[in-house]
Amino acid sequence: MSEHSTEHTRVDHGSDNVDPGVPLTAGPTVLPNSVPERVGSSKVVCNACPVLCHISPGRTGACDRWGNVDGALTRIDSLVLTARHLPGVEAPTLFVTGVGSGTTYPDYKPAPFIVASRHDEVDMVTVVTEGIFSYCSIKVKIDTDRFLGPEQGNVRHQGEIVGHVTTAEYGSQMLSIGGVHHLTGGSKKEGRLTCSVMADLGNKQPVELTIDGGSNLVVQAGTAPIVNGVAERRMRVGCGSATIGIFAQQWLGLVDEVVVVDDHITGVLSEHQAGRCLDMRPSGIALRGRRSTAGRYFKVANPGAGWGGTDIVDPLSIIDGFDPDLAWPGLTLLMVSTTGEHAAYFILDAALRPQPAPLPARVQEVVERIVENCEPALSTVLFVGGAGGSLRAGVTLSPVRLTRSIKDALVNVTCGGAPAYVWPGGGITVMVDVARMPDNSFGTVPTPAIVAPIEFTMRRSDYTALGGHVDSIVALEQVAARSAKRIVPHAPSNPWPLDGKALLG
Ligand code: SF4
Repeated sequence: MSEHSTEHTRVDHGSDNVDPGVPLTAGPTVLPNSVPERVGSSKVVCNACPVLCHISPGRTGACDRWGNVDGALTRIDSLVLTARHLPGVEAPTLFVTGVGSGTTYPDYKPAPFIVASRHDEVDMVTVVTEGIFSYCSIKVKIDTDRFLGPEQGNVRHQGEIVGHVTTAEYGSQMLSIGGVHHLTGGSKKEGRLTCSVMADLGNKQPVELTIDGGSNLVVQAGTAPIVNGVAERRMRVGCGSATIGIFAQQWLGLVDEVVVVDDHITGVLSEHQAGRCLDMRPSGIALRGRRSTAGRYFKVANPGAGWGGTDIVDPLSIIDGFDPDLAWPGLTLLMVSTTGEHAAYFILDAALRPQPAPLPARVQEVVERIVENCEPALSTVLFVGGAGGSLRAGVTLSPVRLTRSIKDALVNVTCGGAPAYVWPGGGITVMVDVARMPDNSFGTVPTPAIVAPIEFTMRRSDYTALGGHVDSIVALEQVAARSAKRIVPHAPSNPWPLDGKALLG
């Protein structure tokens, strides 16, 4: 478990002078590792996070995740199991996820579920918990070339800074949201809003963000980003130079010159290596911006929401002119953006000035092929969490052995059954695509911190060797027999968490 914020807020739910918690609804679940501490006659103290809520009977604590059910500290949401059907086997195979499992906090005790199962004739163990993460962030990949804001620009939600614009990737703008600095290093409001934005993004909900000096956005995992009120439709086929390379052959003989407008690398066909290889006649076009290499220009305009992620409205504004020794009247020129969203056709007049002309059908076909080759624009949300802290004590008496076993590929780490990438180097920094996790996998606690499911699966022999809590192991059948559970289909694109050569050798 990550280190928690030191800002503890003791909440006395159900007493006369504080905001009462939420009345309990149906489906509460008492978990085996919950250790309620009675206060007076009827309240229980929740010790699942540092807030230590005092909860009256029939109420929940500040996070609505734990409640007092008949005097027992109870995790309110159902435990989520994923199920897959194997050919020829009637009963589904089940995997116990951390969603709704409860937490090990304050980490002196074993994880809520340590589940024994058999897989391919091998005895396996899965340690299941909900980690409380103060060290965590969300990376949002937004497939658009439109200018969202300057790199390092502040990203805000309801006026509070919750993240920043980070390095753009190929065809996508990237945001970094949350992190310990925003959760714990600013005002209470900043921490609270950061936490809620992260949980909403993790739970695949739409979130409105504004970027200083940039755009307003609505992002939601797995859906098209909305930039300044307009839903983005297409991710560019490539940068301007790549687009030239891809379509050069198809333009040959149809048009004398093509300029692919792109905020990063604008391409000029006849000058580009692709045009040269096709023996294209130089057009003598002179572009604004900085020539990087033949037919590849940087900074032809400013970033914006116009052609190819620039602020260009009139494409001719980036042309400085034509060399009279090379250009000729009647020369045909196509200007197009990297998504094919913008295209215009020109013919040079006697004074070598481009005059607009209708796009010929065969040139139009190639523009449409650019459109066809664009992928749908999506927002992708990745959760990054540091599981290298005290959370490990819920798995083993010797936490560094868990870290080493993960690095040695003896342990498979999943989040809600979805594969987690474990960053190389020290610690256990995991990264997971929230779209592959069950819905509503994330919660929050008011410290503030994010609650996220995590599972560690390994051979039982390896679990014993790393000093695991073997006395707390329960059979999968025992967990599956619980009444308060929710079984969801295992996402077919997710590997089965118990599979893998690394685990089964
Ligand atoms: S905020 Fe939630 S997890 Fe924390 S003590 Fe209160 S009820 Fe328990």
